[in-house]
Amino acid sequence: MVKVIVNGKEVEVSEGSVVLDAIKKAGYSVPTLCFFKGVYNEAACRMCLVELPNGKLVPSCAYPVSDGLKITTDSERLRKTRRMVLELILAVHKMKCYQCARKGGFCLLLDFAKEFGVEGIPVCAECPLHGEDCLLVKGEPCLGFLTIAGCGSPCTREGTPCFGCRGPVTREDVIETAVKRFIEHGVDLRDLHSRMKLFWSSFPQFKHVFDLVLKYEKKYMGEKK
Ligand code: SF4
Ligand code: SF4
Repeated sequence: MVKVIVNGKEVEVSEGSVVLDAIKKAGYSVPTLCFFKGVYNEAACRMCLVELPNGKLVPSCAYPVSDGLKITTDSERLRKTRRMVLELILAVHKMKCYQCARKGGFCLLLDFAKEFGVEGIPVCAECPLHGEDCLLVKGEPCLGFLTIAGCGSPCTREGTPCFGCRGPVTREDVIETAVKRFIEHGVDLRDLHSRMKLFWSSFPQFKHVFDLVLKYEKKYMGEKK
């Protein structure tokens, strides 16, 4: 057996274990996205980073234990690093929540985005009305695609289009995809603008969202002509 000290608590794990095993044994947890025990441990997502006494950050899912190893699972630095990692992951995530087979169910990215205060995930990620059921397909001006997730989408669950009370997402790629989708489904853009104005027009920090929506409407309506 190998002794590992997790946040000051000593635990024993078998030879060949990784730090994540010791963390669990000590009763702590770290966020993991890509790790799937026995199936995938390539340390690709880096959400499970922990800190060694020499300041080095290592992925706990792949770092081997050694006798007397001390690790820290939570600190301001670790939280900031995990947040940054999550932002990078989200920056390349296609965010096609409306097509996701999970249909507003369990989504680790959404959970972590909430936990780490990272914006960019739209209400569509929580909405069960995906694919063919989506209100946009019926031509209804749902603002879910442009609105920050976190409400649990009570309105769309009741069949009512989202009117954006949580404020807009600010990621340009999400806004661009949303506009493409609005146009693709023939949503009345004037109707959509009125909805956007309802909650967002009195906030100057949201002006750039309006500007981006108009920019991409011009671009994609132009392509349609
Ligand atoms: S109904 Fe609205 S919130 Fe639900 S998937 Fe469609 S656009 Fe997104
Ligand atoms: S209107 Fe507000 S509460 Fe309703 S789905 Fe949209 S963001 Fe959520």
